Amino acid sequence: MHACRPVSRRMLLRSGSGLALALSLQPAAAFAAGITPAARVPAPAPTRAPRQNRAPLAPQPLLPLPTGSIKPAGWLRRQLEIQAQGLGGRLDETWADVGPNSGWLGGDGENWERGPYFLDGLLPLAWALDDAQLKGKAQRFIDWTLDHPWPDGMIGPRANDDWWPRMVMVKALIQYHDLTEDPRVIPVLTAYFHHQLGALPGRPLKDWGRFRWHDEVVAVLWLYNRTGDAKLLDLAKLLHAQGWDWQAEFADFPFRRKVTLDDLGMVRRPDGNFDHTMTDRALSGHGVNNAMGIKASPVWSLVSGSKADRDAVHHHLAELDRYHGMPTGMFAADEHLAGRSPSQGVELCAVVETLFSLELAAAITGDAAIGDRIERIAYNALPATFTDDMWAHQYDQQTNQIKCSLAPGPWTTNGPEANLFGLEPHFGCCTANFHQGWPKLNDSLWMGTADNGLAALVYAPCEVRTIVGAVPVRLTETTDYPFRNTVSLALHPERPARFPLKLRIPGWSKAMRVTVNGQTAAGRAADGFLTIERTWRPGDAVAIAFDNPVTLEPSYNDAVAVTRGPLLFALPVAESWQQWRPRGLTADWEVYPAAPWNYALVEPPRASAEHPISPVPFSRRMPPVTVTARVARLPGWIEAHGGYAEPPPPSPVALPEAQAETVTLIPYGAAKLRVTMLPVAMG
Ligand SMILES: [Zn+2]
Repeated sequence: MHACRPVSRRMLLRSGSGLALALSLQPAAAFAAGITPAARVPAPAPTRAPRQNRAPLAPQPLLPLPTGSIKPAGWLRRQLEIQAQGLGGRLDETWADVGPNSGWLGGDGENWERGPYFLDGLLPLAWALDDAQLKGKAQRFIDWTLDHPWPDGMIGPRANDDWWPRMVMVKALIQYHDLTEDPRVIPVLTAYFHHQLGALPGRPLKDWGRFRWHDEVVAVLWLYNRTGDAKLLDLAKLLHAQGWDWQAEFADFPFRRKVTLDDLGMVRRPDGNFDHTMTDRALSGHGVNNAMGIKASPVWSLVSGSKADRDAVHHHLAELDRYHGMPTGMFAADEHLAGRSPSQGVELCAVVETLFSLELAAAITGDAAIGDRIERIAYNALPATFTDDMWAHQYDQQTNQIKCSLAPGPWTTNGPEANLFGLEPHFGCCTANFHQGWPKLNDSLWMGTADNGLAALVYAPCEVRTIVGAVPVRLTETTDYPFRNTVSLALHPERPARFPLKLRIPGWSKAMRVTVNGQTAAGRAADGFLTIERTWRPGDAVAIAFDNPVTLEPSYNDAVAVTRGPLLFALPVAESWQQWRPRGLTADWEVYPAAPWNYALVEPPRASAEHPISPVPFSRRMPPVTVTARVARLPGWIEAHGGYAEPPPPSPVALPEAQAETVTLIPYGAAKLRVTMLPVAMG
């Protein structure tokens, strides 16, 4: 029944617009001419140890390694290469908002968040791949920003003085300093923060910046750790004082169902747009703000020293799960918080911002369960919302996604393009902002520990170079995780060195096995980590094996989601891709179902099978792992008028005269049309 082979975007381009194909294979000479020569890019910074916080900031249990310490390997490297060869590396060649006329390059084009957003992901991508051309593209934005401060210390385009886009730019600048130690960065940041400290009382945070203040505090504390400038702590406190109090919001969470226009105090105008989009209610129920707000309490706890502030993130996540949670680890927010029906969507910006928030929150809290959630989101929700070649993405992805067409959808405020795949469906924020997802995941796989060790927070193939104690250490992680259940580590300290190695114990793994040089490891399991402390010698080998049975997780209306380890599985619906319109080097696409989708599980799936991993890791055509399931059609489960699946009917469902079929479930990230929350049949 799912015999219809999916058609790749490349094949569609061949059969469709010849113009689009030609463009997609040609470098854009006009833009290439504007790229900074690689020679102007500073040499990489030397290998460094991670830093503990400077007093009086609270110490943290896990210490992010300086950006650039971790290089991707294996499938993760291929995924980053796909990003680089798609919109991730070439967006500036086909989208004017980050092109050569960007306000962040001195032009009179877009001068708000889009340039900094693009840079925030392009930088770590370029250095992770050591790609000279991409480094040159990133360097143009860096050079313009560092070389054109205002006389009063302000940075950025003169035509726009909003604090918010600068919060993104400083986030990029601290990564750039990690990567290069360019001596221009610290003076420019210092002058900017001093300027802001003086200016904020008269020109306080507003709208987006007011709800995202914590992202700037991260950069302010980064600088404080390097300079000890007490004024920076004053600035952090002022940002907190002017910013939205997420902790108070979640103490009595007001959004306990899919929000309506009335809930938000929003009014639709005759032209389809909205009045009152910037009310506190609308901004505090906004999906991306909530995603970014996850880091607010833990980041603030570094200044306040309060355990209650630090731990508030657990309550924050629990409330999002309880009222809006999805099996992808995300919460539904198709612009605003949207309840638990699997037909609701979540925005790509919210996916990558949740990941970044969790990466910081994991470091500050040391909570291994946050590592589980990072994997669930990164290995499912993140790849699901892109085409295989990362030349097109969705604004909103749905957990049960049976059609991506120009139709109203179940959204409260988003438009009919919201779940199409394309260049900038619905709105271009995600086009600019998605770039940080994979590269920052790479940068967070390993962290230093407060007791001078190393911790594996998220498992993926990579190579780490850092300093542990005073000893340079190279560590390689060889694995096809999450598609396989084993991980091999090789440690290469420059000389024998005693330190703790902490390995995250996933919550779903009940019998993780670890050996060191072939012998069962004598480790200590506590707080979600197995700690092995010994004198590590060059060539020491650690082997990890997880148990990862196929598991059913209960979800909305007692439907179930199928998981194996960090991977979520979905029933793939045969896809018919139809180009809606060409968009420069890429195109916008609708996706229609080419087979029925309304199935219920008739027995719990147990058997999984592993297959070769293709050059596209989350490939629908060659899924690296599959689960066999028995299902039957559920005729009463239908498509809603707006072009989406009705919520699954309450389980167990009755299936009179059901004809059971055997089907193959594939990773959620590989199935662009899919049913993920499956009703369960009686019997
Ligand atoms: Zn977005």
